[in-house]
Amino acid sequence: MRLDTTRAILSDLIGFPSVSSDTNLPIIHYIADRLEAAGAAVEVMMDPSGHKANLFATLGEARDGGLVLSGHSDVVPVTDQDWTSDPFTMTERDGKLYGRGACDMKGFIAACLGSLDLLAEAARTRPIHFAFTHDEEVGCLGAQELVKILAKRPVKPALCIIGEPTSMQVFDGNKGCCEYTVRFEGRPGHSSAPDKGVNAVEYAVRYINRLFELRAELVKRCPEGSRFDPPQTTLNIGALRGGISHNVIAPRAELNWEMRPINEADMRFVKEEIASFVEDTLLPEMRAIAPEAGISTETIGEVVGLEPMDENAARDLVFALTGQNHAGCVAFNTEAGLFQSIGMDAVICGPGSIEQAHKADEFVSLDQMSQALAMIGRLASARS
Ligand SMILES: [Zn+2]
Repeated sequence: MRLDTTRAILSDLIGFPSVSSDTNLPIIHYIADRLEAAGAAVEVMMDPSGHKANLFATLGEARDGGLVLSGHSDVVPVTDQDWTSDPFTMTERDGKLYGRGACDMKGFIAACLGSLDLLAEAARTRPIHFAFTHDEEVGCLGAQELVKILAKRPVKPALCIIGEPTSMQVFDGNKGCCEYTVRFEGRPGHSSAPDKGVNAVEYAVRYINRLFELRAELVKRCPEGSRFDPPQTTLNIGALRGGISHNVIAPRAELNWEMRPINEADMRFVKEEIASFVEDTLLPEMRAIAPEAGISTETIGEVVGLEPMDENAARDLVFALTGQNHAGCVAFNTEAGLFQSIGMDAVICGPGSIEQAHKADEFVSLDQMSQALAMIGRLASARS
């Protein structure tokens, strides 16, 4: 019965083509209506463009210590993917529900909305909040705004469950994701007179070499027993473009690099080290020859990860709800670290597999949906 209701809600949710590049307002309003009908206090928070919104809602009293059920409302595009059926019409085949967003992560949102009567009961013990965001798939933009707002509020939720597809396994860590574009401006000249120019490609290469040195440091800094794979913070040189031809001193270069930090301390370490290398070493040398030379860094995205903690009440709650006693670390980025960054305990556990996410014929199985409903349903009887 509950599974039937939830399946119908999931069908509605998949019917909203809430691809990150498009508006998410229709799906947010649909979710808001359902939450309001269940007696929740609902806020729809528009972004400056007016085409996107986050939703934050509360069942129960507005007081400290609540539990946030969190998910993103946007989905990745279906362009160039070969689907067996219409990606925005839910189709059931062999116990599986197909559609874009089925596991990532409308399945979890549907399970929440299909359990609102039980969650209203659970809210008598502690407030139950809902955080449904926009633009997770393009750098967690919505969640970054939402946590800024939540951080300023007097009422502090304590716990957060992020229902990303983990096949209902418990994960209490994920690496962060930081992306930077660095532009090097030199001074062009004839290659026969290298001293008169500033070669932007050469400075970019020195910058990259410094990143390689830091990469070795990161291996040394890695805490013993780190459950990440690979265990340490990693760096990737994604793209390097620059220069004109063999015999011209390269006037410009552009570097795209990325870091997947295991904790905020590593993130700060790398940023500070590379910034001081630029300020103290590279820029003075460049400007001694060409005062107009420069290095500018554009931050494309900086999302902190979920740092595994010995004490994590959200993880312990999900252990109790699901009967598990082991938590892993996921390789993909989630919004969990953003909630942790404002003082909440966060855990990742949701229906469906990341294997199916972002691909053609994305699905969530009915069995996974049942497990998600069971976990949420047990909140009504859970104390602590
Ligand atoms: Zn997702």
